[in-house]
Amino acid sequence: MSSGPVPLAERARTVVPGGVNSGQRNVPGLGDLVITGTGGARFRTADGREFTDFHAAFGPPLLGHNDPDVARAAAETGATLGHMGVGVTEGEVLLAEQLVELLPSVEKVLLTSTGSEATFHALRVARAATGRRLVVKFQGCYHGWHDSVSLNVISEPAKVGGHDPISTGILTEVLDSTLVLPFNDSAAVRHAFAELGSDIAAVIVEPVPHNVGALLPYEEFLTTLREETRRAGSVLVFDEVITGFRHDLGGWQRISGVTPDLTTLGKAIANGAPVGAIGGRADLMDLFSTRPGAPAFFAGTYNGHPGVVAAALATLRKLREEPVHEHVFRLGERARTELRELYARLGVPVTVAGYGSVFVTYFMDGTALDGGVPRTYEDLLANDAARFVGYRRRLLDHGLFELPLNLKRSHISYAHTDEDVDRLLEGTEAAVKAVLAE
Ligand code: PMP
Repeated sequence: MSSGPVPLAERARTVVPGGVNSGQRNVPGLGDLVITGTGGARFRTADGREFTDFHAAFGPPLLGHNDPDVARAAAETGATLGHMGVGVTEGEVLLAEQLVELLPSVEKVLLTSTGSEATFHALRVARAATGRRLVVKFQGCYHGWHDSVSLNVISEPAKVGGHDPISTGILTEVLDSTLVLPFNDSAAVRHAFAELGSDIAAVIVEPVPHNVGALLPYEEFLTTLREETRRAGSVLVFDEVITGFRHDLGGWQRISGVTPDLTTLGKAIANGAPVGAIGGRADLMDLFSTRPGAPAFFAGTYNGHPGVVAAALATLRKLREEPVHEHVFRLGERARTELRELYARLGVPVTVAGYGSVFVTYFMDGTALDGGVPRTYEDLLANDAARFVGYRRRLLDHGLFELPLNLKRSHISYAHTDEDVDRLLEGTEAAVKAVLAE
């Protein structure tokens, strides 16, 4: 006997496996989250709730959700210029010119629709250029869903040090062609290159592994990657899908002064429109088949989509003309400092880490860590996952949203205000007290 309309989330589960369109949206304990509206630092759900959003869609909306200037630019372009899939548009050239100007490593650039496509092509062209087989990645880094990098992101302690695929269905040969090393361990990198350097096509790294919150790199670690790859003739890839534009318009490469051979971008460069980019040394980029006769096949129906490009150009304009970084860095610093003070007052040992607009509270005593912050994946093994997720679930009761998945970072956008940070601090205090009382 029917008793009214079937809820949307239930209909979704009938026709969409699990009811959501990404494995990362399958979040235990969240309940049915049917999103009906977003704006600035907020979103609304079908059951009438409104949240202040510190998740920010895993990072793209640095300016805030549906920034009016970005939305207008995309809509205006969409009204007069559809996607043709042949030739080139002015916007693509303007965007490429700015990426070349801003990112030290980028001499030429190609657009994709996602970050995964960008990292996929970075590894393909590295293999094409070197004729080599092996790829080096680091425990805790995520570079998208494709086979060569689908291993050792968030691993159980027993799996750290071995191969830990995040998916079934990947050929053993492919997994075996990826070497996993500990992040920030220069000796391990030197050792791998001494043993296998002539087989290593590429080293791919998130210069700040934000997919496990925030591990800040030792300067000497990134320098070692640069030296070893250069000496061995391997390609160094900085995956700046998160760090690019969010931390600096020149990416972490400008902050660190270490220039990779290739850079991958995504997320914040178009404030939420589906985009990715791969750029780098002209001799490597010229191997892509967008150049007649070049050997490394590169394609994508939606690459350079005019609406997405317009969103990226409008995002860039705002990032260059308005004090966006100043604002998000100030609020990020305030959030980290006052969260530390709050937990100290509550007597709860935590480690608040992050950089710029990114913050994350690990539930572990960080006093013995180097500089009081985690630097290696192994440092994070002390984090109490139940508390990490538990307080975030409780935050929902206070209209605050930080993704309740272990080790996930949170973000501040240009749309957040000091009042939002006040609200975060008050809600966190109540949520943590509730978790402690459980
Ligand atoms: N690289 C990094 C560092 C990422 O964080 C992500 C996405 N979380 C990707 C690549 C993949 O990007 P996308 O989801 O757009 O394919």
